[in-house]
Amino acid sequence: MGRKNAANSSMLQEASMNNYSMTSAASGASSSGRGKRRAKTRNIAIASTKEVQWQGIFMIIVWLCVMGSLIFFANPEASRRVFAKFSHLQSFYGATSVAFAFATGLDILAYVNAVSDEKRVLSGILAYVDGVACISYLSMATLNLYFLVDSTQGNPVWLMRYAEWIITCPTLLYWCGLASRADRSSVSDIATADALLLAGGALSSILPSWPAFFVFAGSFATYIYVMLHMWGMFGKAMQPDFQPPPPLPRHALHLLRCEIVMSWSIFPLVEFLRRQGYIDFQVGEAMNCVADYAAKVGLAMIMVNCNLEQINALRVQQMHSALTGMLKVMRKTNLSSSRMAQLDGVDDDVKSWIMNEFSGSTDGKGGDDAKAQQRARGRKGHSAAMDAEKLAASSLFTWDFDALDKSDEDLTAVCVRVFQELHVIEQFNIDEKKLRKWLQKVRTQYNKNPFHNWRHAVMVLHTTYLLLTSVATEFITEVELLAMLIAALSHDLDHNGLTNAFHINSRSELALVYNDQSVLENHHSHLAFEILLEKGCNVVENLDEDEFKRLRAVIINCILNTDMATHHTKLSKMEEVNRLGGFINLAENNDQRLFVLAVLLHTADLHNPIKPFESNKRWSARLQKEFNNQVELEAKMNLPSLPFMRGNDEESLAKGEIGFINFVVKPWHQQLSQAFPKLDFLLDTIDANLAEWKAIAESYRQMH
Ligand SMILES: [Zn+2]
Repeated sequence: MGRKNAANSSMLQEASMNNYSMTSAASGASSSGRGKRRAKTRNIAIASTKEVQWQGIFMIIVWLCVMGSLIFFANPEASRRVFAKFSHLQSFYGATSVAFAFATGLDILAYVNAVSDEKRVLSGILAYVDGVACISYLSMATLNLYFLVDSTQGNPVWLMRYAEWIITCPTLLYWCGLASRADRSSVSDIATADALLLAGGALSSILPSWPAFFVFAGSFATYIYVMLHMWGMFGKAMQPDFQPPPPLPRHALHLLRCEIVMSWSIFPLVEFLRRQGYIDFQVGEAMNCVADYAAKVGLAMIMVNCNLEQINALRVQQMHSALTGMLKVMRKTNLSSSRMAQLDGVDDDVKSWIMNEFSGSTDGKGGDDAKAQQRARGRKGHSAAMDAEKLAASSLFTWDFDALDKSDEDLTAVCVRVFQELHVIEQFNIDEKKLRKWLQKVRTQYNKNPFHNWRHAVMVLHTTYLLLTSVATEFITEVELLAMLIAALSHDLDHNGLTNAFHINSRSELALVYNDQSVLENHHSHLAFEILLEKGCNVVENLDEDEFKRLRAVIINCILNTDMATHHTKLSKMEEVNRLGGFINLAENNDQRLFVLAVLLHTADLHNPIKPFESNKRWSARLQKEFNNQVELEAKMNLPSLPFMRGNDEESLAKGEIGFINFVVKPWHQQLSQAFPKLDFLLDTIDANLAEWKAIAESYRQMH
């Protein structure tokens, strides 16, 4: 309503609708397979960065045309008279323009530091909106673009601002749709209402008083409708069971909806007060400037905050490992653990973590605690499924996650949660029932080996998730993301607890089938696709031909590269890349990206030494057991065995781990963190574990 404008209403509506339908056309046109998939989804699929770029270019062209025509119709002489009459106006507009320039900077900051593609898209839209507003106010302050007079009080109507509103309001509504994953019809309803509201406001300013009153009232009613609809749209997305989860956290959505309703309410209020003669034109303009700024910049600030929060999560993780190190030093100085347990005002989770740190090396104690906690929660009356989901959510973002502490139900929840968090479910319209069936099938195809079992696969999936969200969001494509998750869970399918060397030496059937070449890895990869293409388990059925080709290439390449025999080739290649200055422009280079993805999955497969020591110890003991079983079998079959696999006590375990860390894991992570500096904190964990193993080895040496 405050947004009075002389432009005719049909144009307003068209501008509003075009902006929205353009998006659906763009996503529909991208490829026939994708078009089909998008059509089936209930929610707005987040447009890919490329689509949004094209929309941005289109909107900038529209904006330049509007600017051009306004300059053509400008009346500088009349504007100068207005500025002479209202002496502060020019400084208001100038100041608002500077404020918007600052806001645009903020948006660009959020865009550059975006922690996911979706947040990048959202920040990009805001940068466009604030940039347009900045130019608009700048031109109002300097170009004197004005040619209309308000019919009731003879005040000037600044066309540039209203032109800006016509373009930015639908864009902001589209933004709200993306942020709350509203369905298309809701967003187009709101956009239509908003167009009517703008048109009503414009019309009421040039009509004579009585008709103007009715149009104004109608416009006000539409305003209420828009606000209520928007309130409901965000409210829906904030429901805990809303699927798929929105790209912004729920508390951010809550802030957004309050912010939008509050700041957008200022415009009709100002218009009402001005018409009633309570405030004069200049005061109203000052209020409008502030409201316009608040309406747009509030969103940007919440965006920046959301990104910072996630970046902070990584810092918290680093602090956590530093603290863990400190606690270990304290433990060595024999500080009483019971005193620590009495800490008052400490959060239960923190307390149990501290207790775990002090509980020493009793295997499975953490597991018992977890079970006890679960039982306690059960008494409080929560459903088991809720607990599983919560457990999955709470441990999903930390590097010390250990699948050994979790039930099968929890682990399935963890897997589903990873797929949800990375939004591949809605991106590829994966049927959740099929996803669960696929997970179940994959789980049953793992053997109950001490080490190479289903829990190891989930650990690798989880580590892959952390690695990807830490370093790959910049360059990984959607289909590669899906491929990585499938590869991680499938990478040791039907592993029988025996090495490739055993298969080759024993002339096993698998060795014959795969000609002694990466025998197990070929088998895992083969099974991965066999399960994937089974009818009830086909989670990739909605991929088009090209997408499937890329998915297959990534999965095969990643799984084959988990063969330790390829470790040194990859390491030398990474050294070479680092010597030449690191990976350049990964987003554009398919081959290089294929290599990096294989590097990341191999890193995840070697995750034991980047876990807390207790976890590292439990898993290496399991691997030792698996090796011992093989040695036993080798003896029975008169086959050669490797000396390092024969050790069956803690001393040889420590020695083996020291060698493994020094010669395999550490050199690998040194190159990895040079290529991806965000991961260099993992070297601290590796060093801490190495020190622990050395202490154990040393204690045995002294005993002899
Ligand atoms: Zn593995």
